[in-house]
Amino acid sequence: MKLDLNELIASPGSKREFSFELPVDDLPFDGVLAYLTPVTVRGAVENHAGLLELHAVISAELLCQCARCLKEFPMPYRCEAAAYLADELEDEDSEDYYLLTNGVADLEEIARDALIFNFEPRVLCKEDCKGLCEKCGKDLNDGPCDCKEDQDPRWLALGQLLENEN
Ligand SMILES: [Zn+2]
Ligand SMILES: [Zn+2]
Repeated sequence: MKLDLNELIASPGSKREFSFELPVDDLPFDGVLAYLTPVTVRGAVENHAGLLELHAVISAELLCQCARCLKEFPMPYRCEAAAYLADELEDEDSEDYYLLTNGVADLEEIARDALIFNFEPRVLCKEDCKGLCEKCGKDLNDGPCDCKEDQDPRWLALGQLLENEN
């Protein structure tokens, strides 16, 4: 969504609210199987004595897959975006600044950047998810499996080492 801020720029102290749905076709995240609701972006741009400040909340319901136990689960997702908008950049290094084109802001670019920046690279069904047994594949959240501890590959390697020495 493009937002024309020329009116806002002309009146310091004013505020322009916005709300839109972000297209997500090009936003595949590891662990996200589907977007169960549209990704909504709600926020406002304020003119603080000539400085344009944007704040927005991005939210959606996601269908995720746990990176450890591979369980599928719905997850409400929410993150925030904050940025300054300017016609020209005074400091090339200021990452929080976005350029306007003839007073028009590209809100989708800002929302997309915030989403990518904030997204956790590893989606887990719960923080202490125990995952699956590497051997038998049992979901260890449901209890321990019957695999014996001494079959740990590290112990096997050690055992072989000792055998070779004898
Ligand atoms: Zn899990
Ligand atoms: Zn097992």
